[in-house]
Amino acid sequence: TIRTRIAPSPTGFLHLGTARTALYSWAYARHHGGQFVLRIEDTDVARSTQDSVDQILESMKWLGLDYDEGPIYQMQRLDRYQAVIDQMLAAGTAYRCYCSPQDLEAMKAAQEARGEKRRYDGTWRPAAGKVLPAVPEGVQPVIRFANPVDGVVTWDDLVKGPISISNTEIDDLIIQRADGVPTYNFAVVVDDWDMAISHVFRGDEHINNTPWQINIYRALGAALPQFGHLPVILGDDGQKLSKRRGAVAVSNYDEAGYLPEAMNNYLARLGWSHGDDELFSREQLVNWFDGTHLNKSPAQWDPAKLAWVNAQYLKQADDARLAALVRQQLQRKGIAVPDGEAADAHLARACALFKDRCSTTVELADWLAMFFVPAVPSDADRAQHLTDAARAALAVLGQKLATVAWEAPAINATIKQTCTELGLKMPQLAIPVRVAVCGRAQTPSVDAVLALFSQEKIVALLQNS
Ligand code: GLU
Repeated sequence: TIRTRIAPSPTGFLHLGTARTALYSWAYARHHGGQFVLRIEDTDVARSTQDSVDQILESMKWLGLDYDEGPIYQMQRLDRYQAVIDQMLAAGTAYRCYCSPQDLEAMKAAQEARGEKRRYDGTWRPAAGKVLPAVPEGVQPVIRFANPVDGVVTWDDLVKGPISISNTEIDDLIIQRADGVPTYNFAVVVDDWDMAISHVFRGDEHINNTPWQINIYRALGAALPQFGHLPVILGDDGQKLSKRRGAVAVSNYDEAGYLPEAMNNYLARLGWSHGDDELFSREQLVNWFDGTHLNKSPAQWDPAKLAWVNAQYLKQADDARLAALVRQQLQRKGIAVPDGEAADAHLARACALFKDRCSTTVELADWLAMFFVPAVPSDADRAQHLTDAARAALAVLGQKLATVAWEAPAINATIKQTCTELGLKMPQLAIPVRVAVCGRAQTPSVDAVLALFSQEKIVALLQNS
């Protein structure tokens, strides 16, 4: 069976790159009717936090990346790692190294002086006929993996194709620190083996780790998974997408008013393609995602395209759902929305009218704020559209609207009638109404907008604009 996983380190939020890897891993498992596992790689004890775990779980949930197993925490598996370490020590595929930081510094300095690449020189590596140094007293050793000294590690990467790295390029890496905590390259192998992971998707910054991992699998007699290393995501400056260059946490996009289905669609398409399809559902992604058509070269994060994708999903989104999201956005702006069914229904009707012209729920909330706090036109709009003549016309309209049935057709008829009486063309009245009521010169159909306000409010507003 196909089993994939995502293995974030809880040292921060869920990064967009990790989210995309998670999405691909999830889609690959779902495509094959397999399983998707969430593992929390929390062995960097100093930098791992519960808050980060919570954020990661929250973002996974928001994206709808449901997992069949997990979260599994590495720090709860220390006994298992110890058992494997003991087994490797007994088999001679791992050994104790008592080098102090000073020893390693001296080793490095000597290698640099000789113009050599920095690597562990094998001081403590046992070999037939070799006499090891005397074990220093009171020193807690680290455990190193006895990496094969020659040969080439080769794998056929699902994304990058065949990759070969010579064992002479890599040294005996530390697999367990002196405090007993395993290192990433070791724990990841034990876990992927124990969890029967068949396909490992991850960022290509791990390509250099893979030969070590493959060697450890072999030392353990474990079957290898297939590896797929995904290229990085670049910002528009061609540099790796990072916090300094804008929002990189999945949660930022929730706050910024993006819908999770739009995020999934955009992330899926970023680095993978299915013909010319730009918009597709989760079901389509699952049907199509078979691990092919993954790009070998980096993808570029494109905020404008993400906004476009989000706008397409907003247009189709259920209005009651949008109303709830807009309510949250308004609350973030410090605008209180009354509770209750009537208020919800009103917000939903307003969403239906305005969602077509918005890219995010933040923009939608910017529009809908006018129902709760007066819209303030810009000075330019005020000067251009709320002239004395225009305000006099608005006052006339306000008076007439005070007595009509409060629905769009009647409102529309009244506006027309007022235009006729005052000798104005429709825009000469409608635009001042828009500016006075919405604070903007362009809005959806003015009668529909007015109908979303209370009659009293509009009448008062037009008479005092
Ligand atoms: N904890 C590693 C990371 O977040 C996982 C890498 C892997 O998937 O093997 O980069």
